[in-house]
Amino acid sequence: MTSGTVDVFAGVEHEVPSMLREALTGLELVDHHVHGTYADDITRNVFEQSINEGSPDPVPAFMSMFDSQLGFAIRRWVAPLLGLAPHASADQYWTRRASMSSQELDSLLLPAARVTGWIVDESIGLDALRSPGDLASASGADSNRLVRLERLAESVAAECADPAEFVDRVRAAVAAESADAAGFKSIAAYRCGLDIDWSRPSDDAVTAAVSAWLRTTPADRLRTVDPVIIAFLVHSAVDRGRPLQLHIGLGDRDLDLDRTNPLHLLPLLRSTAESGSAVMLLHCWPFHREAGYLAQAFDHVHFDIGLAINFVGAQSAQVVRESFEVAPFAKQLYSSDAYGLPELHLLGSVLWRRSMGLALGEWVRRGDWSADDAVRVAQMIGAENARRVYTLR
Ligand SMILES: [Zn+2]
Repeated sequence: MTSGTVDVFAGVEHEVPSMLREALTGLELVDHHVHGTYADDITRNVFEQSINEGSPDPVPAFMSMFDSQLGFAIRRWVAPLLGLAPHASADQYWTRRASMSSQELDSLLLPAARVTGWIVDESIGLDALRSPGDLASASGADSNRLVRLERLAESVAAECADPAEFVDRVRAAVAAESADAAGFKSIAAYRCGLDIDWSRPSDDAVTAAVSAWLRTTPADRLRTVDPVIIAFLVHSAVDRGRPLQLHIGLGDRDLDLDRTNPLHLLPLLRSTAESGSAVMLLHCWPFHREAGYLAQAFDHVHFDIGLAINFVGAQSAQVVRESFEVAPFAKQLYSSDAYGLPELHLLGSVLWRRSMGLALGEWVRRGDWSADDAVRVAQMIGAENARRVYTLR
């Protein structure tokens, strides 16, 4: 089966001016935060768990995750590429999907996303997911990788005979990675929350924290949660001048959602404003309005509404509209944060294009925006801003 295309403006043609429709349909995106697809074929249980961001548990027997905005969006937009009618039932969808291998699904769905650059976080699901190179070859796109700071710290710590080595070894590892990685990523939001002391810790304070960490944890179970160590990692990455991605908002219930509000980052953003390093706030829902404010307030702050776009499905135009309040357009980026299912790599693109068309198209029709400006802004957010920030070709 060859890859198909998705008519992303089906049913709303009259709401989106033709010039904007054409530009958004043809736009080649840079997905600046994404993961690989599942290397092996999966069960329906794994599929349904993969379309629930909040819960790590199996889906209870009384319900199906197909009955959600994301489940409906998969049946609406992906089913036709599998040769089914739009809105095919969940059982029909699953039966057809299960008849295909993971490679067939990738080669069918990934090119239809029309992404020419993937920036891949490869630090989780290493055994289950394909590599950035596989993602690129299945879709005919380029790929770049991100380095997750907490994982880097854990592998350095596991090799330290003496905690006093940690600080210099981390700095050396961050310097080495910054030579070819697109940027760094921190999941401080998961590990200690964002409401920590963001001042730059002294080397002695980091060494003391690492001593305590190594003393109390077996080497094969090291997990960075100490806020002193995490602040050190973040400052070390910012010092290298590469973009730093920070998880904000929506995630599974391991994180305390109320401690992931990006306003907790104000001290860090003030102290890094002159660093020359860009801070990328990822996902952000339900704090995308706070993120938009920070993107206006700080030259080095950028944000996206990836992940949420997939999960809110038919409501995605509203989230896109809300992301277009106070944030300058040069500070917004596109991402899917797709993980595992190639449906998510595709849907991020489909729902973003459709929602951008609906939101910007309304302003063009009302005469608030020109069609030329709408197209230009779509190109900025879809690709150009990412190419500038990550210095991609
Ligand atoms: Zn991610």
